[in-house]
Amino acid sequence: MELDTLWDKALGQIELAVSKALFSTMFTNSKLIALKDSRVIIHARNNFACSWIEKNGKDLVLTILQQDNPLVTELECTFSVQPNVSSSTASSTYQRKTASINVDAPPILSSINNQTTNLNPRYTFNKFVIGQHNELAHAACSTVSNELGTSYNPLFIYGDVGLGKTHLLQSIGNATLAADPNKRVLYMSSERFTTELIDSIHNNTISKFKKTYLEIDLLIIDDVQFLAGKEKTQDEFFHIFNILYQKNKQIVISSDRPPHSIATLAERLRSRFEGGMIADISQPDMETRVAILQKKSGEKNFLLPEDAAVYIAQNVATNVRELEGALNKVIAICEFGNKIPSVESVKDILASTITNKRPGSTPNNIIVTTADAYSVSVDDIIGKRRTQSIVRPRQVVMHLLREELSLSYPEIGMHCGGRDHTTVMHACRKIDNELKEDEILRHNIDNIRKQLHNL
Ligand code: ADP
Ligand code: MG
Repeated sequence: MELDTLWDKALGQIELAVSKALFSTMFTNSKLIALKDSRVIIHARNNFACSWIEKNGKDLVLTILQQDNPLVTELECTFSVQPNVSSSTASSTYQRKTASINVDAPPILSSINNQTTNLNPRYTFNKFVIGQHNELAHAACSTVSNELGTSYNPLFIYGDVGLGKTHLLQSIGNATLAADPNKRVLYMSSERFTTELIDSIHNNTISKFKKTYLEIDLLIIDDVQFLAGKEKTQDEFFHIFNILYQKNKQIVISSDRPPHSIATLAERLRSRFEGGMIADISQPDMETRVAILQKKSGEKNFLLPEDAAVYIAQNVATNVRELEGALNKVIAICEFGNKIPSVESVKDILASTITNKRPGSTPNNIIVTTADAYSVSVDDIIGKRRTQSIVRPRQVVMHLLREELSLSYPEIGMHCGGRDHTTVMHACRKIDNELKEDEILRHNIDNIRKQLHNL
């Protein structure tokens, strides 16, 4: 039998034996290169797939191949750096039938987005976990979706990447259409807005371009920081913005930073943005990270024990997209063996991801970094003095020891110069409460976290 035909047949059986996500992650673009005596060589799409097949998929692949070639007992996997190794018609037709999901990358959304609104139905409010870090942004978005154009206009949401801005913005669009399918909703990234504007200038269709926008009830522009420095685009956007605004049409904007920090944003746009409601999203705390993991695994019908969730949340702390990537990796690998993940197996699966990302969250580093950020000494933190300038960083240390490392109150007390656990509890509650209102404190703590994680 030809190698391609043989591999096609084997893939059919492999697909039945593993989950869909795992199959497409590990076997898309794979190819049988050689089969001689006891030895078979398979080409996989990348290093990750290759080592996975050798380590975890070997028995399965060999068993299947042995049906036609009883002699094979050894499997080797290779990969090349070229993205598309497979040119065989047989296996590429096969691959076209399966969706490709990469466990590390966010899903490619455009293929399932609604063409006229650019909305992805996956992003809804009920799939969004609310925590202290996004409470305000969520409340504002939810209000806007109920009261289009009348409550907060424009609504400006900002925060670092991977923290849920696109999810929230798209949720407004989806909720609006769910309530009234006749509403005209358009979601655009600011890059796409720019490209389409430039195209319309070239093609002499600019008036049509503008007309489309002016008929909209809800305009969502994501990642507006990319308009920085593009004067012509900003002019057109300003024009569209004003007309929609005057007609009480809703405008929602996101950015990775607040309006005043976007360099080369025309002053008039900035003041328009600042004239509405501005809400930020910061990093989720430990408890919310666990809740997000549980929600996401529940949606996928995957059983994630709490201790495994806590381990992932402790070790992937900075951004929800990475948290999701880590979870997807765990799911892909555990589903293969029908295994429920334990802390130990999750540790193994995520070993490479975690050692690269989190050099810094040890009790000692937290104390040193926080002391440094507040210009006090480590001795001040663990010592007895109770002046406000020392009490505050000490409380922040306690908060971080709890959030970052999930230490118990007595353990935290021990690291902070042998303090009583009730003192620690009081400090943690105090910071938790203040974080709800104090943007500067939030910002300071975020910065310390970034330093800890080497961002
Ligand atoms: P941003 O636009 O801020 O870079 P995204 O909205 O793309 O971030 O979020 C990254 C991923 O994390 C998405 O898959 C999103 O669904 C998920 N996500 C972020 N925040 C939450 C949350 N609070 N609850 C559920 N999923 C979230
Ligand atoms: Mg985004």
